[in-house]
Amino acid sequence: MSEGSPSPPAKLERDYPLARLTTVRTGGPADFFARPETQDALVELLAWAEKESIPVGVIGSGSNLLVADDGFRGLAMKLGGALTEVERDGTHLLCGGGARLPSAAAKAAGWGLSGLEFGINIPGTAGGAVRMNANAYGGQLAEVLEWVEVSTAAGTERRAPEAFDFVYRNSNLGAAEVVSRASFALTPSDPDDVRATLASMRGRRREAQPSGIKTFGSTFKNPDDERAEGRSAGQLLEAAGCRGLAHGGARFSAKHANFVENSGEATTADVLALMAEGRRRVKEKFGVELEPEVQVLGDVDVPGWHERGASERDRRSS
Ligand SMILES: Cc1cc2nc3c(=O)[nH]c(=O)nc-3n(C[C@H](O)[C@H](O)[C@H](O)COP(=O)(O)OP(=O)(O)OC[C@H]3O[C@@H](n4cnc5c(N)ncnc54)[C@H](O)[C@@H]3O)c2cc1C
Repeated sequence: MSEGSPSPPAKLERDYPLARLTTVRTGGPADFFARPETQDALVELLAWAEKESIPVGVIGSGSNLLVADDGFRGLAMKLGGALTEVERDGTHLLCGGGARLPSAAAKAAGWGLSGLEFGINIPGTAGGAVRMNANAYGGQLAEVLEWVEVSTAAGTERRAPEAFDFVYRNSNLGAAEVVSRASFALTPSDPDDVRATLASMRGRRREAQPSGIKTFGSTFKNPDDERAEGRSAGQLLEAAGCRGLAHGGARFSAKHANFVENSGEATTADVLALMAEGRRRVKEKFGVELEPEVQVLGDVDVPGWHERGASERDRRSS
């Protein structure tokens, strides 16, 4: 920390283990960790980190996140308190950036509000969903997203969905821009109908994907490459013999080849080595270069990022 600088915000923890904040359960500690519970506390943390030139990273449910084995030399934050709440204002659903999407979808159903049903199967937060432009079963985040409050070192501002340049599993949000609140404009509906849709979506998911495993969901994006002949990343990996393939404690799921699971003792290095082998096999067999979907915290060299140049990594760590 620089000399004469303001004292760090209250409740800042040091050397905080991050593996348990991710669904794949790998990776090391963050130098600094905090759980801001209000927008003001969040802005204060971001301003402190900017002043101290400390990189920041926000963790939602950690359901699409790989943390470096040697951790993160910066300030990791997980939203808490009021920033995790879900409220209703007429047909609008107001979610803290740290609100869990499945519980937001279930609450909306109980209130007879339709439009967020696809969130029932996405084990992330509202903020993570905006950052990742999350989607499932044809539901579109951007179709129901009304506005987003983004907190930075300079304060909190409200942005329209168009400001995020949403593309497949991505937005233009940088690492120091934190979604602290979002509003979804939903449609009145019969609660029983919305609940029935949720139940059917859960059932479809149970059939298609493994449950109860430590994973970050889809490892690679579905390719937009004619050599894939319309096949998904999972189908290509499976055809390339990756189903069940293991490296150390990491393996491609036997039920869904695009899911890497931690069988208990995996490190992030194991996951990366397995991803590299999966990409290599798919490239060799089909000529298709799979692009990772998973995001990172810390110094992690994800196989496949170099093809897109350093721009993505630079943007994320700026
Ligand atoms: C079993 C399983 C099934 C899945 N199914 C789907 C699916 O059907 N569709 C789908 O799209 N995804 C799916 N995912 C992936 C994941 O759930 C989504 O990408 C989700 O949106 C990530 O949200 P998160 O809160 O967990 O973000 P994290 O994994 O914690 O973080 C991901 C990225 O978002 C950033 N971020 C997190 N919170 C914020 C915030 N408040 N403000 C700004 N940036 C933030 C992080 O810094 C990081 O860059 C699945 C994952 C699993 C494990």
